[in-house]
Amino acid sequence: MKPTAFAGLGAMGFPMAAHLARQGQTLVWNRTAATAEAHAAQYGTQAQQSLEGLARADLIVTCLPTSQEVWEVMRVLGPHLQPGTVWLDCTSGHPSSAREQAEWLRQYGADFLDAPVSGGTAGASAGTLTVMVGGDPAVLERVQPRLAFAQKVVHVGEEGAGFSVKAINNTLLAANLWAAGEGLAALALAGVDLGAALEVINASSGRSNATENLIPQRVLTREFPATFALGLLTKDIGIGLDLAQSGKAATPLLAQVGGLFRAATTVTGPQQDHTAALKLIEQLNGVQLG
Ligand code: NDP
Repeated sequence: MKPTAFAGLGAMGFPMAAHLARQGQTLVWNRTAATAEAHAAQYGTQAQQSLEGLARADLIVTCLPTSQEVWEVMRVLGPHLQPGTVWLDCTSGHPSSAREQAEWLRQYGADFLDAPVSGGTAGASAGTLTVMVGGDPAVLERVQPRLAFAQKVVHVGEEGAGFSVKAINNTLLAANLWAAGEGLAALALAGVDLGAALEVINASSGRSNATENLIPQRVLTREFPATFALGLLTKDIGIGLDLAQSGKAATPLLAQVGGLFRAATTVTGPQQDHTAALKLIEQLNGVQLG
């Protein structure tokens, strides 16, 4: 079997590439080369100094902040690819970029799958990510057994469909998080104990991942561990709203969420954990959650 390559060893990519290494020869590249060297030392992968060094692989996996950075990497590496190579992009990217990148790679005989992931850094470490894939199902079938970081792989449609589903999923995450934050601020101002309130909500119909996990573990504890940057979530909501706009969908609630998270990102900072968006709700209400 030819090697697998991974470009982008960030919060997600570093543990994802470690799972690939359990299956066979894995080449890794990172913009900051020291990270690739550290990965090689820890997991027995082969750090590449240049992007071109990844071209011996027949499966290239990328996990970069946005489709913009994927284009930067693709324009350097693409012309060196062997025909038949599959480029699996795990970035939470833009559906229109997926279609353009798939078209661009075809000139080098390579196939593109948009394959963003959910499950967070904990899921990446455990190898239990969900992957939502857009593109040719026959191409996915060829590479699916090699996706050792995944617990669930779902083909969701044509090129761009994976990015579309991911963007809407994350827009829903943001909506749930914000709504729960506002509700808890109202309860705090009314003098209700938030731990007790969450115990009830999580046994009732108002619960969500935000109330069950994110808020108790990250907000009430004041830890806000930066595993998923607020700036990246706000980027995802923007993609979700672009999707709604291009389909002429009526999504006034989601548009509101976009504005709120843009404001929270400006006030709190894009590098903060996404749950730090609730600090803006705290400011608006003059109350601390937890
Ligand atoms: P990080 O910021 O932790 O990592 C980003 C990676 O991209 C780093 O390896 C960084 O390299 C590299 N990079 C940044 N800019 C460039 C560039 N111009 N050229 C080449 N490489 C570049 O991000 P995450 O791992 O958190 O996120 C990656 C993707 O996964 C995003 O699309 C995000 O939305 C998505 N995602 C994130 C989740 C999470 O919980 N964190 C969950 C699910 C999806 P360097 O080390 O040099 O900075």
